[in-house]
Amino acid sequence: MNMTDKIIAQARSENRKALLESEAKSIIMEYGLTVPKFQLATNEKEAAKIAEEIGFPVVAKIVSPEIIHKSDAGGVKVGLKTAADVEAAYKTIIENAKKYNAKANLLGVLVMEMAPAGTEVIVGAIKDPQFGATIMFGLGGIFVEVLKDVTFKIAPVNIDEAKEMITGLKAAALLKGYRNTPAADIDALAQILVNVSKLLMEHPEIAELDLNPIMAYAKGTNTVDARIILE
Ligand code: ADP
Ligand code: MG
Repeated sequence: MNMTDKIIAQARSENRKALLESEAKSIIMEYGLTVPKFQLATNEKEAAKIAEEIGFPVVAKIVSPEIIHKSDAGGVKVGLKTAADVEAAYKTIIENAKKYNAKANLLGVLVMEMAPAGTEVIVGAIKDPQFGATIMFGLGGIFVEVLKDVTFKIAPVNIDEAKEMITGLKAAALLKGYRNTPAADIDALAQILVNVSKLLMEHPEIAELDLNPIMAYAKGTNTVDARIILE
């Protein structure tokens, strides 16, 4: 059994539909995506120790099967620059999570390498009752939420179709660079779409996938958040 099969089987055996971020990240890593280094901490001191190993600055995030939108729960702290920052963030995140959902099972805090800022894009997938796995691409933030500037294709998606999804955005020109923002690596983004398509075709048990955001750079990408929901 490969990593993806193992993670899905484990979640199923615990009756969990929403995979943890760490699990979703392990799956997309198996499909060739780049993610920031991360490790689970279960107390403040351990969080600080992991941060020292990863190197500052780091990000800290709540890990709970019941908390899917981590920022809504006050469960994400970015730009932590010292061990003391990380210890304080650990405490605050756990307190916030308890306030947000007293019943949530809190497994700890994920300490993660902080990705440099890039052009934020998102990749999503849903199961259309008629067409099956459908992949979505868009630019992050207001472009998706306000302007609804997204493109869709039914899986499987090949590399040419993937590039069409990217260049088909109304705001595609932004990916070619503007002011002091460099052009984004369109080939690397297209490869993500192809790889996600492969994941969905090989694992029909995945009902929903959300990579939000992916940082796109002049060369390469870094997927800083990943969510997978099973059927
Ligand atoms: P949520 O569950 O709320 O979507 P995210 O993991 O997406 O939580 O974190 C919220 C925001 O924090 C992201 O949109 C991104 O801007 C920032 N962020 C999260 N992880 C990282 C990281 N490793 N490096 C840089 N920024 C990050
Ligand atoms: Mg997110």
